[in-house]
Amino acid sequence: TVDEVINFSPGPTSLPAAVEKTIADSFQTPGLTSLALSHRSPEFLAILNHAAASVRSVMSIPDDYEVLFMHGGGHGQFAAVPLNLCRDPSDIATYVINGTWSLRGKDEAQKYCRAQVVDGSDPETGAYTSFPDLTEADIHPNSKYVYLCSNETVNGIELHRLPKLPDSRRHIPLVIDASSDFSTKPIDWVNSGVGVLFACASKNIGHPGLTLVVVRKDLIGTGKASPLCPGVFNYTTNRDAENLWNTPATFNIEVVGHVMDWIQREGGVDEIECRCIAKAKALYDVIDGSSGFYSTPVTNKSQRSRMNVPFNICGGDEDLTNQFLIRSWEKGMIGLRTLTPFGVGDHLRASLYNGVTLEQTHHLATFMRRFCEKYS
Ligand code: PMP
Repeated sequence: TVDEVINFSPGPTSLPAAVEKTIADSFQTPGLTSLALSHRSPEFLAILNHAAASVRSVMSIPDDYEVLFMHGGGHGQFAAVPLNLCRDPSDIATYVINGTWSLRGKDEAQKYCRAQVVDGSDPETGAYTSFPDLTEADIHPNSKYVYLCSNETVNGIELHRLPKLPDSRRHIPLVIDASSDFSTKPIDWVNSGVGVLFACASKNIGHPGLTLVVVRKDLIGTGKASPLCPGVFNYTTNRDAENLWNTPATFNIEVVGHVMDWIQREGGVDEIECRCIAKAKALYDVIDGSSGFYSTPVTNKSQRSRMNVPFNICGGDEDLTNQFLIRSWEKGMIGLRTLTPFGVGDHLRASLYNGVTLEQTHHLATFMRRFCEKYS
């Protein structure tokens, strides 16, 4: 038996303990949770408005952006982005590929637009180990948007601040897949030229079944989207219906509101970022100080993910890796190896989302240090 389970899963995963308690309590107290309220009832409207307002306030989202709660997860947005921003399938969009999720986003998008690629893979190995520089030559001046993933969940590459496009391309909106890092650092919406940012909820801000989409108002409006864009994915339709075009993921929206309240109480997104830096440092210090016993694939240290720390033991030694998983599991640490749809699930990966505390991360760091001392 262990005192506590520490969930290092890449998502879905645990939310902050205080948020999980609020959710549990809401099922104990008399009355209805948002699972049992009409989505058009005044009670739910208050919940919806609170969630939207608190996302806006925690993430300092300017008034010229809409906050939408949509369906379909990250994959839904892989299609929704081109369907909303490219009226015609011959429209060009630029995709920066530096990992498995940006690649998947591009593969889906090219059904609906002409996706041009800025390839960030290592020319020799083909592996994704850093984020490429963006040059004028990389980006077609008529590109409808430049797409990037700010945290590659599988590859462990993170942009701690959004890149600036070259001056001659600054008119092009950025589209950001922030599924696994949203709410963990500030975003400079206007100066970074963000056009659309989306995040599936199931890592840092809630549960699967909800996708948060922040979209600049000038990119939506009648006649902007492809005529084939389904209503459920159409930003204009959902904005006009104030997030109630069809039944939204009511309970999940309530949970996002609870997570935002928690961030506010804890000191805001700057404080969350400080914690993320400290949590990640605790693990990378062990990896870097292990004389090669542990290794991590990301070559550019300034792009190491604070959210997902991928690592190998002795170059992927199977026996040691299994030992590591069993011993850490016995201590209540779970989620350190998960299969991915990309066949790159062989490395270990510790995910340090909002639900994982610094203290819990230190438990893993101490375990890793002891394991290294014993087996190296
Ligand atoms: N983008 C990123 C960065 C992700 O980590 C994930 C899920 N792991 C997705 C997109 C896909 O999200 P979903 O499973 O909700 O479609």
